[in-house]
Amino acid sequence: MSGGREVIMAPASGFCGGVAAAVKKVLNVAQNRQCGHIFLEGELVHNGAVNERLWALGMRLLRRDSVVCGGDTIIVRAHGISPGRRLYLENFGCKIVDCTCPLVRRIARTIEANKCKKIILLGDRDHAEIEGLCGYSGNICVCGNLAELAQYIDAVRYNYKDNVNICKNKNPDPGETCDWVIICQSTLDIDFLKAASILCKKKHFPAKIFDTICPATKARQLGLEALKNCDAAIVVGGFHSANTRRLFEKIGAWGSRVFWVEGVAQAAALDLASYKKIGIAAGASTPRDVLQQIFDEISKK
Ligand code: SF4
Repeated sequence: MSGGREVIMAPASGFCGGVAAAVKKVLNVAQNRQCGHIFLEGELVHNGAVNERLWALGMRLLRRDSVVCGGDTIIVRAHGISPGRRLYLENFGCKIVDCTCPLVRRIARTIEANKCKKIILLGDRDHAEIEGLCGYSGNICVCGNLAELAQYIDAVRYNYKDNVNICKNKNPDPGETCDWVIICQSTLDIDFLKAASILCKKKHFPAKIFDTICPATKARQLGLEALKNCDAAIVVGGFHSANTRRLFEKIGAWGSRVFWVEGVAQAAALDLASYKKIGIAAGASTPRDVLQQIFDEISKK
């Protein structure tokens, strides 16, 4: 508490284990580089300060027109890539440093184990993780929200009206083999998964559901509860970060005043004079030191 204002931090805010490990690995590669360029297969994290540091170390983004030679290194980020993309990168003949988060690998293995079935992947269609995961089976439909899932189930009903599982057996034995499986993006909204499960039951859609939301994501989303009685909340994270956007939307859905900032300067510029209790939460791409600086800045305002 400072100047009559209380500032609290949501538990489990900031860098997750997967991102922290990726950043550490990449900095290690940069420090031990002897020759060649280091290319990043997309932004390592959606955080300006971290990216500036990487650019300052001479790293660059891999682009369509990048000229890659044998002595170069390509970094695969925590979101992972598809097997096809990996083959493409390997064809450059350079070193590949794979920073794919083990929890994203686990989702890929779940897809591979179910690739004979019809897979519904819940997540953001344009997100790099989903793009990569889609490469593990030719039988994936991505649903980005509940309406799309409902539409998919209805379409299946219409097209497969003779299918015993769907139309005749309204209460399928949970042990019986399902033709459909539902798998989640690691950073999916936990409420979306709950609603998807209810929808499947309501529509008698016998899909087997794999809860592949990662523990770090669950902890960040559940940690928002601590901010419920704040006058305002500040969500910290890159504007392109899917998990940060979900935190922002979840707080906004309560009807609370919520600000979204990427870094310390934006947080310092906020007009917070009328708020007595302020909560701070951060996505998985925000370094803990940046978060602490923002906490200190807001506390002293
Ligand atoms: S959000 Fe979860 S799956 Fe993604 S990098 Fe972090 S720990 Fe891994």
